[in-house]
Amino acid sequence: PHATDPRLLANLNPEQLAAVTLPPGHALILAGAGSGKTRVLTTRIAWLIQTGQLSPGGVMAVTFTNKAAKEMIARLGTMLPVNPRGMWIGTFHGLCNRFLRAHWKLAALPQSFQILDTQDSLSAVKRVVKGMQLDEERFVPKQISWFIAASKDEGRRPRDVAVHDEQSRVMQQVYQAYEDQCQREGVVDFAELMLRTYELLRDNDPLREHYRRRFRHILVDEFQDTNRLQYLWLKMFATPPDRAASSSSPGDSDANSVFAVGDDDQSIYAFRGAQVGNMADFEREFKVREVIKLERNYRSFGNILDAANHLISHNEHRLGKNLRTEAGPGEPVRVNEAPSDFAEAQWLLDEARFLHREGSPRSEIAVLYRSNAQSRVIESALFNAGIPYRVYGGLRFFERAEIKHALAYLRLTENPNDDTSYLRVVNFPARGIGARTLEQLQDAARASGRSLHQSVGALGGKAGANLGAFNAMIESMREATHGLTLREIIEHVIATSGLADFYKAEREGAERLENLDELVNAAEAFVTQEGFGKDAVALPVDETAGPGTIADGLPQAVAAVDFTPDAETGEIMSPLAAFLTHAALEAGDNQAQAGQDAVQLMTVHAAKGLEFDNVFITGLEEGLFPNERALADADGLEEERRLMYVAITRARKRLCLSFSQTRMLHGQTRYNVKSRFLEELPEAALKWLTPKNQGFGSGFAREYQQAWQRGSGLGSMVGAGRVESPPAWATPKTRELTVESPAASGALTLRVGKSVFHTKFGEGVVVTLEGSGADARAQINFGRHGMKWLALAIAKLTPID
Ligand code: ATP
Ligand code: MG
Repeated sequence: PHATDPRLLANLNPEQLAAVTLPPGHALILAGAGSGKTRVLTTRIAWLIQTGQLSPGGVMAVTFTNKAAKEMIARLGTMLPVNPRGMWIGTFHGLCNRFLRAHWKLAALPQSFQILDTQDSLSAVKRVVKGMQLDEERFVPKQISWFIAASKDEGRRPRDVAVHDEQSRVMQQVYQAYEDQCQREGVVDFAELMLRTYELLRDNDPLREHYRRRFRHILVDEFQDTNRLQYLWLKMFATPPDRAASSSSPGDSDANSVFAVGDDDQSIYAFRGAQVGNMADFEREFKVREVIKLERNYRSFGNILDAANHLISHNEHRLGKNLRTEAGPGEPVRVNEAPSDFAEAQWLLDEARFLHREGSPRSEIAVLYRSNAQSRVIESALFNAGIPYRVYGGLRFFERAEIKHALAYLRLTENPNDDTSYLRVVNFPARGIGARTLEQLQDAARASGRSLHQSVGALGGKAGANLGAFNAMIESMREATHGLTLREIIEHVIATSGLADFYKAEREGAERLENLDELVNAAEAFVTQEGFGKDAVALPVDETAGPGTIADGLPQAVAAVDFTPDAETGEIMSPLAAFLTHAALEAGDNQAQAGQDAVQLMTVHAAKGLEFDNVFITGLEEGLFPNERALADADGLEEERRLMYVAITRARKRLCLSFSQTRMLHGQTRYNVKSRFLEELPEAALKWLTPKNQGFGSGFAREYQQAWQRGSGLGSMVGAGRVESPPAWATPKTRELTVESPAASGALTLRVGKSVFHTKFGEGVVVTLEGSGADARAQINFGRHGMKWLALAIAKLTPID
């Protein structure tokens, strides 16, 4: 070997050094979080090249995300005088794409084949289902799409699908038809990239041998999260172990080397088919001689690491290893108990402000949560405070498809002539209204200068009838929601639009349903928090935001939601209209711009491999984290615990854990029991900001907490943790209301169903009564003038008998 740049290896500890400089041969680095696995992998590539053992063209390195691949390439760029772009470094999908681009002919693809993303792939499945004239209720495209992807992930083509009944026979046919269609159109989906590459290598001996000779070193990060097909794929590139073993001197043999790094304690994708067993298989099938463990953690302070070690020791199925640090204990891990999810978000906000003032960049503040639905309350708090933030691995709440669909229906009940909303949901869920029909409708609307809703009469036949039925549905929704509270309106629309049923039938619809429930919560919170009927909205002030930050643009935008009653008529925006405006504004471009220093929001899954100075883990409540859906089987809890381990080990300097006594989630208020994971942390490493065990003020909550700890039946515990409470903030809605009226000298008593006279709108019927005193308001149907919301302290109303 040539002389190496001494700086390359200077800072490595002995185990890391041994791993980086291993002689050729298959190796497994099994080590905990923050022990330098990724750093070792990168350094090994640089060392192999520097010492002349490897040319850049002989490297293949696989990472899990594009972000990780980019970082690796960037690091290698600083370590080596060569351009690392030529190296095969990327995600599984990225590398397969590269491979198929080079061998498109052998792979029977057109040279310019296109890749379908998940959404495109679903549309393709839909066309197939339609073309086969299948009942979409029985053969739900989303489910078929999932089935096809899962089959491919296990290496199964249509002919390999087990057929045992009518249903599975049709599934097989759809899978086949989908493949034919993709082949005809020259497109491949994500799973096809992997499978096609694997099959080509499996069936083409010369090609496989070529690549085995070419890639001398194959390196895989996050090996614990590989699935079956990825493992089989790797085996195609690797020299079979019997051949590798038979060569006398490993250094000179023509066998290549697979260098896998992973951490069984961080295996968090079993629910998507990842097999931690691949590590054991790898060790056995590749006859791995070198298994190196790294036990020193360079990322976190002692208290954080103690918490991680202590927690994960509760898992039984472990390969077993520990982590230590020489960094000193650092600050204790802080635990905060909040009375509500709003209070939790407020606390986060204060902490983030404080940390930023103390000099921490916002990008070093990460807020982690178990489930995407939790982000809304946090986003809302940050948004209102004008603090830039970025959400990773998920759309912002109001930008999510299911939320946009629900909002579109709500907009149509306000205004059926909103063409954008009309187009978004006229055929969602599917109502047999095709693209051609919609083109004709748009033509008719254009010709007459009217809205789509108004132009439906121009179309005859089946198409016209389907459109007419949609219009009628919107109309009846509109009528049915008169007199309902905002919460009831949204619930009604989600149910009658068919959205709820649609997502219930979807394989992965549970989260979308949760988000729809979150929309109900958002509306409820909006009505109570924004102070319906109050004069103005408090403008957000962010004392820490400098000029040019998002806060500057905010006051204007927020002020567009104007709750001030009209001075003359007393008219105010309907709660629904006000909420829709609010949703539109929040969905506006308030995401931190690229390069802007922003607080980082993401799920724990999305945080894998990353590190931050300050980490907040929120929502540490039974049923949420650990998630109740994962608790159905015994392995589920261990996977949740590994997820918690991943979360804790993202922190470098400061770790804060929080939970909330009550949380609006899935459409209801839950009384929470704090997560069992908090009990599994070492008391000495913690600092409770709120006295431990105090918060569960009410006796029953403490009882449930104890029941929980006793471990009596999971089912009953989950139920117990979710007792419905009378929502204190609920909008008081009454049948009868007495107010001081400006028109009637003295008290005016209004009753639902009673007729009134308004100086401008004329005669009307009271539909809804809400609030009290100065905040009292009524929804009144003025017939020709339509539905109006009036502030009763201002509106000039007189009763008609
Ligand atoms: P994870 O399991 O979370 O992916 P990892 O094992 O891949 O973690 P790395 O991200 O490689 O760990 O390293 C964690 C941190 O420790 C990084 O900031 C890295 O630069 C630093 N580090 C690793 N080894 C050393 C070392 N010998 N000296 C100083 N810093 C180190
Ligand atoms: Mg790593």
